[in-house]
Amino acid sequence: SWSSADSIISTDSAGEPPEPGRPYRVVLLGASGVGKTAFASIFAGAADSMDSDDCELSGDEMCEKTIEVDGESAAVTLLDTWDTETDKRAQECHAQTGDAYLLLYSITDRASFIRASELRITLRRFRPAQHTPIILVGNKCDLVRRREVSVNDGRTCAAVFDCKFIETSAAMQHNVWEAFRGIVRQLRLRRDSEEA
Ligand code: GDP
Repeated sequence: SWSSADSIISTDSAGEPPEPGRPYRVVLLGASGVGKTAFASIFAGAADSMDSDDCELSGDEMCEKTIEVDGESAAVTLLDTWDTETDKRAQECHAQTGDAYLLLYSITDRASFIRASELRITLRRFRPAQHTPIILVGNKCDLVRRREVSVNDGRTCAAVFDCKFIETSAAMQHNVWEAFRGIVRQLRLRRDSEEA
C-alpha cells in the first residue's frame, strides 16, 4: 500500500527551504561499502565540532550537531542511509527528506560510481523543481593503486549532473570536513538567494 508512505512523506517538509532554526538535514547516499558509515563516524566524533560530547549514532543512524563554517555556526542533522537499491519506498523517502545530499561512491569501485549516477537521477525525479545542493563524493582516494574511476570521470559526471565534486579519504580523514562544510556553504547560498 502506498497510502502510509504517502502520508509519511506529505507530513514532511519535503522540498521546502529549511525554516530558520531548524537544522539542515544532510543525507548520505551511495552504494554499500563506499564509506557512508566512515563519514558518519567522522561527523559524529568531530574533533573540530563545537559540541563537547561526541554524538551517538543511534538506530536510525542520525546525528545532529552544530559545526562552525566560515565563522558562522550551522546546525546539521546527518542521516546515514542504508543501501536502498532494492527498496523503492525507502529511496523515495530519502529523496524527499534531505535539504542536501552527499552522494558517495568509491574510486575503487566502478559499479558504485554508476550507482551514484542512478541515485542522482532518482533525486532529480523526486525533486524536479528545487535546486537541491548535492556534492558528488569520490571516497577512498587513498587507495591509488585500486583506482577504477579517474578524477576526470568524477568531475565530468558532476558537471553533467550539475553538482559539486570532491575526492575524499575517510580513512585518512582527508577532505571529509571539506565536504561537510561545502554542503553547508551551498545550503547558505540557496537560503540567501531565497531571501533576496
Ligand atoms: P558504507 O557501507 O557505505 O557505510 O561503508 P563503510 O563506511 O562501512 O566502509 C566500507 C569499508 O571501506 C570499511 O571497511 C571502511 O573501513 C572502508 N573505508 C571507508 N572509507 C575508506 C577510505 O577512505 N579509504 C579506505 N582505504 N577505506 C575506507
